[in-house]
Amino acid sequence: MVLLKAIKPIDLNFYSMVEKYMNEKQKLLSQLPSVDEILKSGEGMKWLETYPRRYVLNAIRHALDARRREILDGLATGLSVELMAAEIRRNIEKLSSYSLIPLVNATGVVIHTNLGRSVLSEKALENIRRVSGSYSNLEYDIDMGKRGKRYTHIKRVLREVTGAEDALIVNNNAAAVLLCLNAMSRGREVIVSRGELVEIGGSFRMPDVMAASGAILHEVGTTNKTHLFDYERAINENTSLILKIHKSNFRIIGFTDEVSIEELVKLGERHHIPVMFDLGSGCLIDLNPFGIHNEPSVKEFVKAGVDITTFSGDKLLGGPQGGVIVGKREYIEKIQKNPITRAVRIDKLTLAGFEATLMEYIDEEKAVETIPTLKMLLQKPGELKKRANVIARRLRKEIPDAEIRVVADTSRAGGGSLPETDLPTYTVSLRTDKLPVNELEERLRKNNPPIIARIKEDSLIIDARTVREKDIDILARGMRTVLSG
Ligand SMILES: *Cc1c(COP(=O)(O)O)cnc(C)c1O
Repeated sequence: MVLLKAIKPIDLNFYSMVEKYMNEKQKLLSQLPSVDEILKSGEGMKWLETYPRRYVLNAIRHALDARRREILDGLATGLSVELMAAEIRRNIEKLSSYSLIPLVNATGVVIHTNLGRSVLSEKALENIRRVSGSYSNLEYDIDMGKRGKRYTHIKRVLREVTGAEDALIVNNNAAAVLLCLNAMSRGREVIVSRGELVEIGGSFRMPDVMAASGAILHEVGTTNKTHLFDYERAINENTSLILKIHKSNFRIIGFTDEVSIEELVKLGERHHIPVMFDLGSGCLIDLNPFGIHNEPSVKEFVKAGVDITTFSGDKLLGGPQGGVIVGKREYIEKIQKNPITRAVRIDKLTLAGFEATLMEYIDEEKAVETIPTLKMLLQKPGELKKRANVIARRLRKEIPDAEIRVVADTSRAGGGSLPETDLPTYTVSLRTDKLPVNELEERLRKNNPPIIARIKEDSLIIDARTVREKDIDILARGMRTVLSG
């Protein structure tokens, strides 16, 4: 009793304070404009003219909810339409902008799978627009006036640039491998070296693909060494295929041995077993003149007698996503008839981009200039130094306080291509007292358009190899924006 009496006055006082406080909150809440009021304001009318009504409404509700929460938390800020307008506009813009957007790749990795792999050539882009903005003869034989096949459009040029008897193209190289294995080896054995059972990322692991295709994996050799006799001993009446796989994204060094494709072809011929090579990247031109000596062209494998060769469209080839299968006619015909071909078929946009890209290879000298992937990969150090100097000069003008240097470095091809090749490059190395380097990297990444660079020690690194002419301006303005705001 005594205790209660002692507490009561405090209690009352407390409750009245709470009540007063709540009344204040109620008052603030009632001052919030309604959705309708905002819609009918000058700003609201303007938004409705430009953006979808649904996004305008969502953005307004979002802003009002945020204000309401702030009021209840005792943090009320500006409640008028004018004070909320900037936030609402930002919300609307966010909602109505695309998710898939172009960005600046300053990493120097040319075939960057996360950043969209190959940049398409002008010819490819033009042809995609031309063909897909109209009806086309996609599956129509104009001469005969009847149904045709979509693959005919690409067979001739693929034969020309690879020297193969026949060719097929599907959705991507993973699909090409799955399809070939299913068509050639379902329920039968495929011999593969233990040194080549790769995982190429994105859950594409050779043993798993093999299982999914219905083929039976027959592993031979060891991780570091596989000999011809390992393959030979594995051959039995259920063997359907000898498969070689490009060690796309790793290297085994030291005490190693593998069997060359030429030896495998001879072995296959002796035992009447076809030989398949999953090349992964697959280059259509001879890279030797450019100082890259460990990546033979597709043509050379075809000439060596490989029965089936598969490779990607958007790696070294520099075209759209696709999986190319080239080889002997009897096998290509068998593969084309398989039901999986229909399930992984290529669409007309890709086909249009592919045909245009492949046509560029008819003149290889021009192709290395007009196909961006090739051009970026094969740039000479002198050109890269010049480009790095242009970037550095521009950045010095934009952000005079920063420490900016041009530095010799190396870049990688990426995308599981040329894993053993370090490409000499020049980078712009940048440091500023205004921001820690990781924050600078993050702000550039979140810039519009995003700029993706890497960090080395305490500097931001911009590799001139993948910074294209039109990117330099974006880079300079982005840098100024993130350092000033
Ligand atoms: C990249 C790669 C693939 C998959 O090619 P996608 O076109 O990405 O599907 C398959 N095998 C090897 C060896 C590769 O390097």
